[in-house]
Amino acid sequence: MKIKKISHIGIAVSDLDGILKLFKVKLGLEHTHRETLPEHGVELAVVPIGESALEFIRPLEGNVSIQKFLEKRGPGMHHISLEVDNAAEWIEHIESDGDEMIDRKPRIGAAGCPIAFVHPKTLGGVLIELEEGDKSD
Ligand code: ZN
Repeated sequence: MKIKKISHIGIAVSDLDGILKLFKVKLGLEHTHRETLPEHGVELAVVPIGESALEFIRPLEGNVSIQKFLEKRGPGMHHISLEVDNAAEWIEHIESDGDEMIDRKPRIGAAGCPIAFVHPKTLGGVLIELEEGDKSD
C-alpha cells in the first residue's frame, strides 16, 4: 500500500469556461477532458501537466459544499488527489486508526476511476482525494 503520485490538484471555480481560456492563453495549457457529474454536483475539466494535472471544478446548482467554499474563500485550491492502487484498502486503513473518511466506500469519479475523499479533519484540514489510477500504467 503506497501513494503513487499526485494525480491532480482540484481547483474550485465559478466560471469554468473563463478559467480554461485563461490557462490556455496565458500558459498554453489545454484541457483534454471535460464532463458533468450530476451525482457529484460538479462540472469538471482536466488540464494535464506532465505526470499530473489540474482539475477545475464548478459546482452545479444545489452543490452546497463547493458553493460555500467559493463564497468563503473565492476560487482556488480545493483538494489534492493522490493516486493509489486500491481505494478500499486505504479507507479500511484510515478508519482502522479511528480516523474519518468522507466516503466510506469508493465511488466513481472523473473518467470512471474509483475515488474516496478523506475527511479534512483527519489530515490537518487538507482535503485529500484518493483515486485509483489507470491500471494499465
Ligand atoms: Zn479531484
